[in-house]
Amino acid sequence: MDHPILTITHGVQFSAAHRMNNSRLSPERNLEIFGPCNRIHGHNYRVEASLRGPLDPETGMVANLVDLMRVMKEEIFEQLDHQLLDEIPWLKDTVISAETLAIAIWKKLANRQDELGAALDLVRVYETEADSAEYRGPASNDF
Ligand SMILES: [Zn+2]
Repeated sequence: MDHPILTITHGVQFSAAHRMNNSRLSPERNLEIFGPCNRIHGHNYRVEASLRGPLDPETGMVANLVDLMRVMKEEIFEQLDHQLLDEIPWLKDTVISAETLAIAIWKKLANRQDELGAALDLVRVYETEADSAEYRGPASNDF
């Protein structure tokens, strides 16, 4: 019990527009699958990222959340707030859903793992208060 393992989380919110659209499908098929979500509309997104690791008895922390806050501000808020997500270069060619956003944001944060102070454990994207998707990285794809 000297070094209990904990998960710590930081959340950011941003507002952005998108449309659910698969460019490989016909307009008719897109409308059939996505309905009104095929039209451009907006969400107040919330993204949470969690780090997991042992408690440092000297600091009483798993990692300094200031570092995760900085990385999430730079990689998420500054790049996505008040944008049309379909035009973001690192989201191009994907159907932009909570699921695909969670995967794309995981990759952005994982690229900066060295700065985070503990292992990236989870990215959760809320598209509304009721609906969210979470991703735990490629290692969790064991089915
Ligand atoms: Zn939507």
